[in-house]
Amino acid sequence: MPDPGSDSEVSSVWKRELSESYRSVSDLPEIFAPCREEREYLESPGRGFRFSVPRNYFALAGDDENDPVRLQFMPRSEEFNTKGYETGDPLGEKLHKVTDRLIHRYYDRALFIASDVCAMYCRHCFRRDYLTADQSPLTEAEIENAASYLKKHSEIKELIISGGDPFMLDDKKINDLLYIFRLARPDIVFRVATRTPVVLPSRITPSLLKVLTDFKPLFIMTQFNHPAELTEESVKASGDLINCGIPVMNQTVLLRNVNDSVVVLAELFQKLVSCSIKPYYLFQGDLAAGTAHLRVPILQGMEIMKELRSRISGLALPVYAVDLPGGGGKVPLTESYVGRISGNKVILIDSEGKEFSYPLE
Ligand SMILES: *Cc1c(COP(=O)(O)O)cnc(C)c1O
Ligand code: SF4
Repeated sequence: MPDPGSDSEVSSVWKRELSESYRSVSDLPEIFAPCREEREYLESPGRGFRFSVPRNYFALAGDDENDPVRLQFMPRSEEFNTKGYETGDPLGEKLHKVTDRLIHRYYDRALFIASDVCAMYCRHCFRRDYLTADQSPLTEAEIENAASYLKKHSEIKELIISGGDPFMLDDKKINDLLYIFRLARPDIVFRVATRTPVVLPSRITPSLLKVLTDFKPLFIMTQFNHPAELTEESVKASGDLINCGIPVMNQTVLLRNVNDSVVVLAELFQKLVSCSIKPYYLFQGDLAAGTAHLRVPILQGMEIMKELRSRISGLALPVYAVDLPGGGGKVPLTESYVGRISGNKVILIDSEGKEFSYPLE
């Protein structure tokens, strides 16, 4: 029987797919007609945030300029408009940098920026300024610096490895990175934030799976934003991770015209659960410069969540959260079901607005 593709053959498919990505207006297939706003952006080279989209992800988009997949990868001239309240560092991450690449914002978690490239540049990206500036490649000294910080800070129980997309590094670099951190902290839990299962599923190769399996406990945090992204390939990539004992969690970004509807989100979250992927967060759009056209008003987001809560199971329901501008961190956006205190009782309100009392003692 022929070998079903040697490891190195399978492993090179993603590199080829990545190199064949569309990166400029002239790369795009001839039958694709950019709208005025898209053309205006792409014809202003040197301005704005990088553009690159793998062909397979591009192929998921429809002809409509407001197609939910197309809106995520096609830049539009609206990105040149910046609101007064938008910034280049919307989460205030610089304030919490403890080494070149390590952000220690929460007591028991830290975040390591492993890469400054992505397989696809999401138009809503909140690290777009970081990714636009030319960063130098990850060095061993930077990894060692972060590892020695982790060694000194035993209160840190989880390390989030983010970027950019950490899976743009090659398998060896990923192995070295995890190895150095694991050596410094045998007890630490890894979380790798990557969009590759969605936008470049061929990246989840047998050899990458082998590397990851050696460093459990390890969770993958991915980003499905629309049911159309749940293709045979992306579901298989996620399933391969899960079958290796690597849980896959999903962080959706609430995006205008992409998923700002109860019907779309309910379908997305239910389908994710049926693929054994846990919807973890639904993020309110961060105040990154040039992303206003993709943001959903916060009160509308809360209305959507309220309806979702009464429609889908707790397993399918993520936490709706906003990362506070200026470095305040994440807070959940939940309406209160606690009405008022009355005597020795608390009045609780159910999803239909009916009041119930519960004793305080
Ligand atoms: C989001 C985030 C985390 C993780 O927060 P969780 O609520 O545990 O998912 C950790 N550090 C930074 C800097 C973050 O932005
Ligand atoms: S994958 Fe993440 S870091 Fe990369 S462009 Fe998308 S949102 Fe930004």
